[in-house]
Amino acid sequence: MAPSAVASTVHAGEQDLDLTSSALDHRSAENGQSNGSTNGSNAPPSSNGQDNGVAQPNVHQLDASKITYTFTKEPRDVPPPGVHSIDGATICTDHMITVAWSARSGWKTPELRPYGPLSLMPTASVLHYATECFEGLKAYRGFDGKLRLFRPDCNAARFLMSSVRISLPSFTPAEVEKLLLALMAVDGPKWLSRERPGSFMYLRPTMIGTQSQLGVQAPSEALLYIIASYMPVMDSPVGGMKLHTSPDDMVRAWVGGFGYAKVGANYGPSLLATQEARARGFGQILWLYSSEGYCTEAGASNFFVLWKSKEGKTQLITAPLDDRLILDGVTRRSVLQLARERLGDEIEVVERKYTIQEVMEANSEGRLIESFAAGTAYFVCPVSLIHHRGKDVEIPMGKAGEGGPYTLKLKDWLKDIMYGNVEHPWGVVVQEER
Ligand SMILES: *Cc1c(COP(=O)(O)O)cnc(C)c1O
Repeated sequence: MAPSAVASTVHAGEQDLDLTSSALDHRSAENGQSNGSTNGSNAPPSSNGQDNGVAQPNVHQLDASKITYTFTKEPRDVPPPGVHSIDGATICTDHMITVAWSARSGWKTPELRPYGPLSLMPTASVLHYATECFEGLKAYRGFDGKLRLFRPDCNAARFLMSSVRISLPSFTPAEVEKLLLALMAVDGPKWLSRERPGSFMYLRPTMIGTQSQLGVQAPSEALLYIIASYMPVMDSPVGGMKLHTSPDDMVRAWVGGFGYAKVGANYGPSLLATQEARARGFGQILWLYSSEGYCTEAGASNFFVLWKSKEGKTQLITAPLDDRLILDGVTRRSVLQLARERLGDEIEVVERKYTIQEVMEANSEGRLIESFAAGTAYFVCPVSLIHHRGKDVEIPMGKAGEGGPYTLKLKDWLKDIMYGNVEHPWGVVVQEER
């Protein structure tokens, strides 16, 4: 009997399930915004009067228009093409952007200032509790001379999602996009010169918890910074990318975890397996999940397979987003969209869970067509081999050995957008300072 007992159990259950989404919503509401970028439960505001979602007049929003400029007095030389680091240190441009935040007063004035070391107390939250998240996107010097970012709105939105996931502050994503443009407006003309069309830089927005108080708690101070660096071209390794599947006793991310967020805590622990795979001649780990061996990601890139299904359909398959195991890559999203728009007649685009056994079976039945990894760093990188539990799966690399025809077609379409060979809304032009 006791319908009330049943009702209250259900209610308690709902509250528990709501804990994460309410926490995320409260975090977003702190700066008086609700931009719907978190997963938007309609949980009522908490009644403690502190984070009730009402903007306090003295808590400032992130505002890119307030940016101040302090130019370097020691401009550095641009390295020759192909040089990305010196003594193991990444080469960055002359300037960086920093913006400090505190729970009490919100966002301070964004500053463009000389690139250089940060000052942190040894007790800073990020150094102990991994309160760090980041983004990665490239700036491209087009063949038409213009400088472009690729879908920076997607990176800014994901940056917000990651930040809020680890109790770092929220912000209006469009302001971060403006800051990215501001940095490239200043450093782009020199560091990505018009004399080098077809080259790129790598932008790294980062957020860290800086409060200098030990204790496991959400930091009340944070720093957002953006740097621009060089990075090698990694999308066409000789002989293709070779993957080693993850060991049975290691997973990159798990359901209920944070694999979908670009938080530093996802990467450090993956290096052990990656280092071992590299020592054995492989480029990246193909991260499998659960005893079923679901294919998830290749290193820090999304992973794609082209095969003929048992029914004879040509399919482009990749892991889904709904279980929140993998990162929602901007490259992944763009590949899927272009494939659906432009190859929809020839291939079926499928986002579903699929296992390494299915890939091995497709291989042994001659149905495996192509494979590639996709992400900003590796761009669209053909995969030529997967090593799994003592067996090698070899994947066709096309006539010229540079990747299969679909892989190369998708890659070229994206390149055309990035380097301005075609006008496309995904390519956002930087208005450079002269
Ligand atoms: C950054 C990243 C990707 C690629 O995302 P893009 O937005 O395409 O650069 C894929 N997987 C992981 C785990 C990543 O960290």
